[in-house]
Amino acid sequence: MTNYIIMILSLTIASFIVSQDVYAGDDETKYHNKLSISVDLVSEHYEVNKIDFLLKNYDFHEINKKYATTLGRDSDPKLESDISKTTLLLRKLGWSFITAPGLRLWTKILYPKSTISHFDVEGAVAFTIDDGFCGLDNSEGCMLEEVRELLNEYDAHATFFIAGTHCQNTPIHEVNSLIEDGNEIANHNMMDWKYDKYSVEDFEFDLLLSKNILTRYNQKYSKWYRAPFGTLSDNIEDVIDKHGMIHVLPDAFAHDTYIPDPNWIAKHILKKVKPGSIILIHMPEKGVREWNYEAIELTLKGLKAKKLKVLNLSEIDALKSK
Ligand SMILES: [Zn+2]
Repeated sequence: MTNYIIMILSLTIASFIVSQDVYAGDDETKYHNKLSISVDLVSEHYEVNKIDFLLKNYDFHEINKKYATTLGRDSDPKLESDISKTTLLLRKLGWSFITAPGLRLWTKILYPKSTISHFDVEGAVAFTIDDGFCGLDNSEGCMLEEVRELLNEYDAHATFFIAGTHCQNTPIHEVNSLIEDGNEIANHNMMDWKYDKYSVEDFEFDLLLSKNILTRYNQKYSKWYRAPFGTLSDNIEDVIDKHGMIHVLPDAFAHDTYIPDPNWIAKHILKKVKPGSIILIHMPEKGVREWNYEAIELTLKGLKAKKLKVLNLSEIDALKSK
């Protein structure tokens, strides 16, 4: 809840502040040359083990040093037992209060027009899963196969928003199987932290580095983007627009990283969901947000009972334009 309040406040403040970044044309050209050369070299010579090389990228580490902040997983509970029953109850009450007017309305008030939180379609919803596939700190924790099977069991498709650094502990063929089954992957930057302090060029470098990772799987790079923590800035918006990407927020979300109770998460989502909704649950890993596996299962069960088709973002988008 506190994260969300901070996000709302900072977005409100940010919308009143004119960006102070000034870019000289020459610097920009120099920067783009550097970027395209380094990324091209990577794809040419390190095809087999691209992710290892990208994570060792010198510029990536220099930029990270400049903006280092708390990762989502480091401030949230890892296990259900990490927070007391009272804290859990207060968090549920707080989130229910904040979301009472609905996240569609909050998105409309707090975000630019280009950010979407739902689609105008009947009979279907979109499912999104953030922070795939597995943190760098959890080498044995990947649950992608389990989640893939669960989606198949319910004839459901999802869009996975991927943090570039979360790809190292997941075999490439598992991600390709996920895509073959009708799911989709999309850009969630390299790090699961806030990017609102990044300069235009540093943000773009990070975004293209994660694009480079995503494009090694068997899927055409998608236009969908989700800002880590849902935090935008003028710089982020500029870069996203330049690359023709669309920022996607959920309208059915139970702050599942902060409120570790699968029954409550599913119930909250099913209460908020409407035709055209964009659902969000974060990726479960063994020992980190693992409760979300059950939350996904209960949510899929509830959606089936409501006779709502569960699609990925590109599928529901295609439905809209029919
Ligand atoms: Zn995230």
